[in-house]
Amino acid sequence: MIRSDNGYFGEFGGRFVPEILLPALTQLEDLFFQLRDEPSFWQEYLTLTQEYSGRPTPLTPLRRLSRQLGGAQIWLKREDLNHSGAHKINNVLGQGLLVQRMGKKRVIAETGAGQHGLATAIMAARLGLEATIYMGDEDIERQYSNVFWMRQLGADVVAVTTGSRTLKDALDEALRDWAASVETTHYVLGTVCGPAPFPEMVAYFQSVIGEEIRQQALQQMDRLPHAIVACVGGGSNAIGAFGAFLDDPEVELVGVEAGGRSLDEGQHSVRLLKGTGETGIAQGYKTLFLQNDDGQLGDTHSIAAGLDYVGVSPILAYLTQTGRVIPDSASDAEVLEAFSLLMKVEGIIPALESAHGLAGGFKRAKAMQPDQNLVINLSGRGDKDIFNIARAFPQAEWTGFLQREALRSKELLAETGGQ
Ligand SMILES: *Cc1c(COP(=O)(O)O)cnc(C)c1O
Repeated sequence: MIRSDNGYFGEFGGRFVPEILLPALTQLEDLFFQLRDEPSFWQEYLTLTQEYSGRPTPLTPLRRLSRQLGGAQIWLKREDLNHSGAHKINNVLGQGLLVQRMGKKRVIAETGAGQHGLATAIMAARLGLEATIYMGDEDIERQYSNVFWMRQLGADVVAVTTGSRTLKDALDEALRDWAASVETTHYVLGTVCGPAPFPEMVAYFQSVIGEEIRQQALQQMDRLPHAIVACVGGGSNAIGAFGAFLDDPEVELVGVEAGGRSLDEGQHSVRLLKGTGETGIAQGYKTLFLQNDDGQLGDTHSIAAGLDYVGVSPILAYLTQTGRVIPDSASDAEVLEAFSLLMKVEGIIPALESAHGLAGGFKRAKAMQPDQNLVINLSGRGDKDIFNIARAFPQAEWTGFLQREALRSKELLAETGGQ
């Protein structure tokens, strides 16, 4: 289990919030610390994920693709097969159990790709809670199908039009709401970031991924894998996949960030590689942030909305600093190539976020031996990315398809009154 030192991982982490939020964070932390030491709570959580989200997710060997690349045997941890199509539901269901224990009736969340908002809206519907989801309006544009479903599920989706209109701005808005509503409202943070105890708590719920990989590897490979590769947005699917292997130094742990268009300022979301992110305090915690020359939070870009974030988990910042986690990045172009390869050779449609892990993993696997095993965490499925993919591979037929869909979306908006 990943444990902080009083909210810190090395120099990173902490709790830098307005005084008004401290009681809520302390209450949450006390409850979480109490429950995580009760084996029956973990069992309750596992049962919920089994009954509702289809866990355990399979570990799928990619036999054809491994042969084609000529290196290590590649396996995918299939978080895409979760209910709602990504790993985010793990964390959200766990926090749902805490909300029930606290007796709160309303949840709020910030979302980038929309996957976390969707997972939160699903959990709120299932548990009978009111939900408000904050989302940058650029992300709303990019991920409209998720917004549509959140609203159908009964959640209130609020468009955030400040700053770069992406995840970091949505996070600021959610914190503002929470400060005003903390008595009745739980803030469902979507990743291993933010003020303590969120990083530690989200890592705890997502650790189910790595625990399963460990068991499945021992069964299916007869040993631990040589490497585990995961994409890194905030870092939750990566830490979830890595957590069970931190004390096995022979297992390489590789986090792949969004290399975007280039490593020029504003063109990527690479925070862990040397010379990119710098230590700073923002959004309630201390970590590596992309910053401009004035020390302000910088602009970010990724073809994958879920990786387009200016900070990164304090746990990953620490594990990269100590050398346990190896940072890597994949450009938009490399990601599209890996995306196509997985589709055509294995018939699996990955999320663009997850395709960063694929790009990094394929590159690594090629340099390894056929008797070695490499696991890539497939954090989510790609259905939500249909329009981005159609745009990225322009063909006349698809341009027509996009135009027709845009028209249809407008009609849909009119019918639902923009709700
Ligand atoms: C949100 C998201 C990510 C990035 O978030 P992490 O906290 O870094 O895991 C990655 N993949 C998918 C499919 C997502 O929805």
